[in-house]
Amino acid sequence: MLALGERAMAKEPGRKLGVALVGLGNYSRGQLGPALRKTKLCELKGVVTGSVAKGVQWASDYGFPATNVWNYDTIHEMAGNPDIDIVYVVTPNGLHAKHAIAAAKAGKHVISEKPMANNVADCDAMIAACKEAGVRLSIGYRLHFDPYHGVLRDLVRTNEFGPFTRMNGTFAFRMGNRQWRIDKKLAGGGPLMDLGVYVIQESCMATGLTPAAVTAREMPKQRPDFFNEVEEGIRWQLEFANGALADGYASYNDGGDSFHSDAKGGWFEMDPAYIYGGLRGATSKGPLNFKPDVCQQALQMDDFADCINTGRASPVPGEMGRRDLCIIEAIYGSAAAGGKRVEIEV
Ligand code: NAD
Repeated sequence: MLALGERAMAKEPGRKLGVALVGLGNYSRGQLGPALRKTKLCELKGVVTGSVAKGVQWASDYGFPATNVWNYDTIHEMAGNPDIDIVYVVTPNGLHAKHAIAAAKAGKHVISEKPMANNVADCDAMIAACKEAGVRLSIGYRLHFDPYHGVLRDLVRTNEFGPFTRMNGTFAFRMGNRQWRIDKKLAGGGPLMDLGVYVIQESCMATGLTPAAVTAREMPKQRPDFFNEVEEGIRWQLEFANGALADGYASYNDGGDSFHSDAKGGWFEMDPAYIYGGLRGATSKGPLNFKPDVCQQALQMDDFADCINTGRASPVPGEMGRRDLCIIEAIYGSAAAGGKRVEIEV
């Protein structure tokens, strides 16, 4: 008798793993669905949606049975369905834990979008549920599969420039319409949760370390009526145990998409840094040029499928998503205390 999580591995050789997307909003529609037409090791085999009609349309567009359309309360019914190996949770942040835990209980491997959850406690519950069910858990950190960001990781691995000790990163856009991203219950917070997590990720990538402490300040609100539940903008500084410092900024009322990292022997920078395509980067040795763009999402999902098939550890596991929530909670803690230095416990 196979354990639940081993079932996905016990497939005919060459068979693609089946993915079910949970939540058919902008990211699923614009990025993940199209990426699943390019993946080599997995394919779209089902959806979870609040609208049956939408799900049936996806079934027809992507060529899977209409019986593989579930709603948010029937995720458990996937248990035993051999078409689905991986459930990819793409709902608002505050719902990731509920949907990921339901998928794990149904015996499915799980990818959760970023940020992993609203708080560390929910991350813990997701990790525990996946362990208990014997399934794998990964986070949608697509930049780990992009060659520009691969250069940064290689520089850290080879220590070619020496350690990066000064970093700064910005991710910001001006939000127009009211949406779940400014609803505290569904989003967990404001731009720090949604955008700042990329800058935190990149800072950890550049040092190869987890930060030890943080100081942070919320920006004064220009639109307090609109941003009445979450921050409009926030700045922070991460301190690493080796003395490295990383300044970060995230805002829903500004622009910017960049990262710069200095070491004694050279530098690395990107602008734009965090979007899906059209990235531009350089190091002190010269410009980087990886054209055409890769499909980050296809590479990310294929890597997870390969991890399941081979038993290899994911480079973007649930524990990494949890680490980032620990950092985010410390940033909010510091900002709430008026910029007091807060130690980060992971
Ligand atoms: P979206 O608003 O476009 O879609 C959200 C989906 O969740 C919709 O289909 C909506 O119907 C559904 N949903 C279910 N319950 C809901 C509820 N109670 N309230 C509101 N919507 C509900 O959002 P999105 O941009 O697709 O983001 C979804 C997730 O993906 C978020 O966690 C976000 O951070 C993440 N995301 C990641 C990337 C990336 O580059 N990795 C990019 C965009 C979004």
